[in-house]
Amino acid sequence: MGDDRFFKLRAFAVLLAFGLAPGSKVLAQNQQPLLPPVIEPIHVVIDIDRTILDTVEQKTPAELLASATLIPKTGKIFGNRYIVLDGAPEMIAAFSGLPDVKVSLFSRGNRARNLAVLEQLKLPDGRSAKDVAYRIFSLEDAPLPKKDLYKVIGKNGDIDRVIMIDDHLDYAVSGQHRNLLWLPHPEQPRIHRYQLVRATGLVLAVLELAKSTQKPIREILWNFQWKKDGAERLVYRKELLTDRSLYEKGMEFLRGVNPQYTIPSVFLDELRQGCLWRALTSIRAPS
Ligand SMILES: [Mg+2]
Repeated sequence: MGDDRFFKLRAFAVLLAFGLAPGSKVLAQNQQPLLPPVIEPIHVVIDIDRTILDTVEQKTPAELLASATLIPKTGKIFGNRYIVLDGAPEMIAAFSGLPDVKVSLFSRGNRARNLAVLEQLKLPDGRSAKDVAYRIFSLEDAPLPKKDLYKVIGKNGDIDRVIMIDDHLDYAVSGQHRNLLWLPHPEQPRIHRYQLVRATGLVLAVLELAKSTQKPIREILWNFQWKKDGAERLVYRKELLTDRSLYEKGMEFLRGVNPQYTIPSVFLDELRQGCLWRALTSIRAPS
């Protein structure tokens, strides 16, 4: 055995002993190399209507229209114009830019409408929501009045790694309510304009906790949002709606894809009495 080969073998033995050789433990047990373990992506599945877009109605105030991005800019898509809810382009761009996250859209609107609005929903880098979506599901794909998340991840997918952002509680399939990040329609109707900044912060908080505790994502998501009252009924934790830390966390993340991103001020005056108003006004200016 030549010196060179001997030293190489010895070096490899040392690496094995310290567990540093790639796949060393697997090699020792099975005598055949394996690919690195496949880490399943985290799926963020986003509803369309009243989650990222809202229809323009007769009663929609002019000042809201003036301060919002509208789809389409002129005319209508299948009879409607849409307000792009605050932070929707940034949220889609920011999550789809994470290496281990896939963003899908799942709407009970029909496919032609969904594709048309998603094509016009432009992200800060000029691509559309349709361009970056992993999958897009429409009424034709889910004729039952439920959104089965296995459609997105496949029947062997890991349901623990899916978060569905939706304003409807009813669309979750039995057993998948824990995957739902719910956007309640609040008493103050225009807060929903800011709901995606909060939802973004909540997703990030959930993922951070999942990473540090190794607990399933959907268990953490559930416990963040729901508690039981004295009669053991489930109650939504309303304090989330005014949790400044969630808005701050979301805002910082959204600014990562659009440094100019800010919360519009147009309706903040209406929230003047609430701590949400204080939270939003204190974080709205780009730093
Ligand atoms: Mg909806």
